[in-house]
Amino acid sequence: MQKMECKICSGEAKTIYDCQFDINYYCCPSCDFIFIDELKIISPEKEKESYSLHNNTPDNEGYVNMFRDFIEKSVAPYQKRIKTALDFGCGPGPVLAALLKEKGFQVDIYDKYFAPEKVYQNKKYDLITATEVMEHLKDPLKTLKLLKEHLNTNGILAIMTLFHPQDEEKFKDWWYRRDLTHISFYTPKTFEFIAKQLGMKVLMSDEKRECVLG
Ligand SMILES: [Zn+2]
Repeated sequence: MQKMECKICSGEAKTIYDCQFDINYYCCPSCDFIFIDELKIISPEKEKESYSLHNNTPDNEGYVNMFRDFIEKSVAPYQKRIKTALDFGCGPGPVLAALLKEKGFQVDIYDKYFAPEKVYQNKKYDLITATEVMEHLKDPLKTLKLLKEHLNTNGILAIMTLFHPQDEEKFKDWWYRRDLTHISFYTPKTFEFIAKQLGMKVLMSDEKRECVLG
């Protein structure tokens, strides 16, 4: 069998085969990172179509509350040091950006599909948020290195992505991976490895879906 190198720590990843969808996932026993076989990554056109179908608008109360909770846990404890923010991967309806503006922050938004102007170029921020972004990234380290370059000294990176179950059978049953735009999966341990590579530290992890690097 082909050996796969972990995209985060370069360790040797093990194969998890999903016979239902005929998909190989690669799981790193060192850092817990799981990534999908590149052949199964869907096209950018299909990916955009899938995002457009999400009901991510201010009218969706559950969606708004999820972000209020995120701000409470991952942003509010650091807000004294925040004046400027970038919501990286804001999606079709920039709900989080609106909530961050309510906090009094100056907020820029970027999204590969829905706000593609790279407004962050030549700028640095006190806070960069990446919510529901990490699971879509083919090369997460590359993106995170880019984000780090746009952080001020003492800036923080607040991330939200649902952490994957450790158990292989539970992973196969996990609803989150059935969305085929979800191609990369993490645990708090993965973010410890990522933080180290970025020269940062994990300041907070809720063990469920949120973590803050600084
Ligand atoms: Zn690894």
